[in-house]
Amino acid sequence: MKKELFVNNEKVNEIMEKYPTPFHLYDEKGIRENVKRLKEAFSWNYGFKEYFAVKATPNPFIISILHEYGCGCDCSSYTELMLSEALGITGNEIMFSSNVTPKEDYIYAKKLGATINLDDFTHIEFLEKTVGIPKRISCRYNPGGIFKISNEFMDNPGEAKYGFTLNQLIEGFRILKEKGVEEFGIHAFLASNTITNDYYPLLAKVLFETAVLLKKETGVKVKFINLSGGIGIPYKPEETENNIFVIGERVREMYEKILVPEDMGDVSLYTELGRFMTGPYGCLITKVIHEKNIYKHYIGCDACAVNLMRPAMYGAYHHITVLGKENEPCNHIYDITGSLCENNDKFAIDRKLPEINIGDVLAIHDTGAHGHSMGYNYNGKLRSAEILLKQDGSFELIRRAETPSDYFATLDCFSIGKKLCNKKI
Ligand SMILES: *Cc1c(COP(=O)(O)O)cnc(C)c1O
Repeated sequence: MKKELFVNNEKVNEIMEKYPTPFHLYDEKGIRENVKRLKEAFSWNYGFKEYFAVKATPNPFIISILHEYGCGCDCSSYTELMLSEALGITGNEIMFSSNVTPKEDYIYAKKLGATINLDDFTHIEFLEKTVGIPKRISCRYNPGGIFKISNEFMDNPGEAKYGFTLNQLIEGFRILKEKGVEEFGIHAFLASNTITNDYYPLLAKVLFETAVLLKKETGVKVKFINLSGGIGIPYKPEETENNIFVIGERVREMYEKILVPEDMGDVSLYTELGRFMTGPYGCLITKVIHEKNIYKHYIGCDACAVNLMRPAMYGAYHHITVLGKENEPCNHIYDITGSLCENNDKFAIDRKLPEINIGDVLAIHDTGAHGHSMGYNYNGKLRSAEILLKQDGSFELIRRAETPSDYFATLDCFSIGKKLCNKKI
């Protein structure tokens, strides 16, 4: 499948007249159309709710758009809870799916009335000592072993740090019931960025069967089952997009086969999708500032791995369009690099692209989730701006770029830090 960009060259030029590169650009229209599809695909489930994984794109403007469609927030840290509260998203609209959770985070989550999703058996006691056991709670399940779909390896839960074992889950439910919990939920996240319609239905099967087992073993009937994140997006042109309607329908089949006969036809389904919600609806716009020819042919741009870490961290593929050269033959082979003093700072290695000249503008695709949010400040590099391309074609700055003052802000308790923060550039 050809990878199309949601924005054209002219519009990018117009935006660049106002805001310098690099910046992440988001597509409001794409985000809205996608969340509508998700809701429709699961509309058969009365209590369905998506809790957007805030870590994917922790920007209040993006979260607010999703909230218009009834999405809550899946938070995992203190500051994510703060962001959620500031947007008026509290109570049952927050799923707090954290792990290795500090005390302060549980205190805050409890104060907001968030649904706490416990990552570990020992957290029952930890939570009780910290804030007491709430009336509504969720436990994260880790079935261990290897998670396979028709012999195709998906992921390795046995190596993952998350969740309760099955025995811990059973024992945990018994304890929580005794301590007065009235509403129970279960959660599992077994594979990330899956580009197959099979993942959610198979995960649903695992969780639905576990819910039935828990009812038999403990007498507890769960109120909700959280399928969490993990639906992927096609980063590569040869990958096929998931069909959310097929996924929704096949989860429904599992629901009717496993839960309904057990008198569990009123269980609410939740999701905590991040990548699927915003990933394809963002791109990183960067300008080519250098070209170098040694043993390989390098194109150097004004963005670097601090603006998009996935290629450096996971060797992830991100498609690249040279704006204005969409129809030219890809007859050159380049490494596309940033300016970090780290050789893994490459957005692409041996990529076939049209001839690139200094001053060309590149769009790096699919940066709408786990893009800007994974940013960091190594080499004293600054995080870029975020801009929203609205439905009517206008655009708005939804996060300014960092300045040196931001970088030095944590030194401002010292006189040298104050001087650096106040220095005009
Ligand atoms: C990261 C994460 C998500 C979102 O994952 P995606 O791959 O972006 O869908 C959801 N839930 C939890 C607990 C997570 O850690």
